[in-house]
Amino acid sequence: MSLAEYRKKRRFGVTPEPKGKGTSARQRKKLAFVVQKHRAAALHYDFRLEWKGVMLSWAVPKGPSHDPAVKRLAMRVEDHPLEYNEFEGIIPAGEYGGGTVMIWDKGTWTPETPDVDGALEEGELKLSLDGTKLRGSWVLVRTRPRRGESRAPWLLIKRRDEWAGSEDLAELAPRSAVSNRLLIEIARDEGGDMRKAADGDPPAVLGKILDDPTLLAPPKKGRKKSVRHSNRGAS
Ligand code: MN
Repeated sequence: MSLAEYRKKRRFGVTPEPKGKGTSARQRKKLAFVVQKHRAAALHYDFRLEWKGVMLSWAVPKGPSHDPAVKRLAMRVEDHPLEYNEFEGIIPAGEYGGGTVMIWDKGTWTPETPDVDGALEEGELKLSLDGTKLRGSWVLVRTRPRRGESRAPWLLIKRRDEWAGSEDLAELAPRSAVSNRLLIEIARDEGGDMRKAADGDPPAVLGKILDDPTLLAPPKKGRKKSVRHSNRGAS
């Protein structure tokens, strides 16, 4: 587990993302998970699990589905610092991952297998999530790389339990788990590209706002404060 690749991809003088203090594990009882909705070049959801002092990360283009019949593609990406869990805001255009980031869900996770490193190695990690949107039992399964693919894609799948359902969570619950904002509202508050951000919000929700603009969250005051929050751990 290392943050070298994470740091190599980013210019910390330019992007407000945290540099991360290091990978030494904070001793805590519960392991954190976070899902960040990220309207970069393409919309995706970054699914991150705390493990050994970093956030193991997968980019899930369509986002998690709690329908056990739906398998969601999840590409493993570089480990992120624990401080990244607090990041909601704007990565400047032209920087790595430039665009709007929302904390779509957060909570804690529990491995459903005693040997997490072995499970990752084997390519099948069973886990349970206790978040505000995502709950219950899930599995991450690594598939075989297809011809021409250098990295094997993973699949994120809901396992059958009382938390399974057939609704589209992304459509049903499109707002931030920490600020209750849509992507367009985060972009407005933090100086991002509102048009590009809005393209990641459900059209039905934006349609309702156009009909009744009072549904728009009031602008978050004190932009400096929010940036300092986003920047926690960068010094
Ligand atoms: Mn991302």
